[in-house]
Amino acid sequence: SPLTQAATERMELESDLRKALANGQLEVYYQPKIHTIIGQMTGAEALLRWHHPTRGMVPPDKFIGIAEDTGLIVEIGAWVLQTACSTAAAWNKESLFPIKVAVNLSARQLFYGNFVDTVHTTLTSTGCRPEWLELEITESLLISRTPETVLSLETLDKLGISIALDDFGTGYSSLSYLTEFPIKTIKIDRSFVSNITIDKRKLELVRAIISLGRSLTAELVAEGVETSEQAACLDRLGCHIIQGYPYARPMPVT
Ligand code: C2E
Ligand code: CA
Ligand code: CA
Repeated sequence: SPLTQAATERMELESDLRKALANGQLEVYYQPKIHTIIGQMTGAEALLRWHHPTRGMVPPDKFIGIAEDTGLIVEIGAWVLQTACSTAAAWNKESLFPIKVAVNLSARQLFYGNFVDTVHTTLTSTGCRPEWLELEITESLLISRTPETVLSLETLDKLGISIALDDFGTGYSSLSYLTEFPIKTIKIDRSFVSNITIDKRKLELVRAIISLGRSLTAELVAEGVETSEQAACLDRLGCHIIQGYPYARPMPVT
């Protein structure tokens, strides 16, 4: 039955994923974030890729959930952080215009052990400055706000690392998150961006998000920008940093 088939596939993926890191099957891709006013890449998002020996490239949507459920995300996430910080250090060492590298963070990572220590150690060992690193978290991570979460995020913020709120508007949005946590960047979700030039209501929503973000002096990034009309529209509304396939796809570091 399809259900059995799905369960079997999941079990196979889980067992393969346990060996993926040690076998060198994981790779970090980077998707440039383009600043539309200066026309340059000012940041990049680290996106995990799995080169499976028989299945080929397995998309993150297929395995991040498994990694989270099994706890493997702690080890894998630490490796992504390490890799991304090394990349940021290499890119920025001799550059006058540093590129900020953004790493996606799962709730499990933040709650496991001392995450702040892990970040601190990683920065030191890779030579990455805190201002070259951004951590992307989702609203669902903030839902279970504990005093420890708040403290960890505040410590990271004090270290000079920026925190971005990913997929903004899609989760269990509470506007109070924006003031309760040290959020530096708001990432406007692709589902809002994709229709702004056709759907007046989406446009008004994005206008409101941008105006809110600006009044809180947050940086705004739009995800999944796929046409120049969308880019122009976002630019008029005051969002000047975009991420989208036609501008640059996620790609290997080389
Ligand atoms: P996300 O954090 O929302 O990442 C953005 C996703 O949008 C990426 O998918 C990216 O390839 C895709 N994207 C970028 N531009 C466009 C566009 O113009 N059109 C469309 N349709 N899509 C675009 P990707 O790489 O498949 O990653 C999927 C999700 O997997 C990410 O969503 C993130 O939640 C998760 N993920 C990826 N790498 C990591 C990681 O290292 N750690 C954790 N915890 N999660 C990760
Ligand atoms: Ca992200
Ligand atoms: Ca996102």
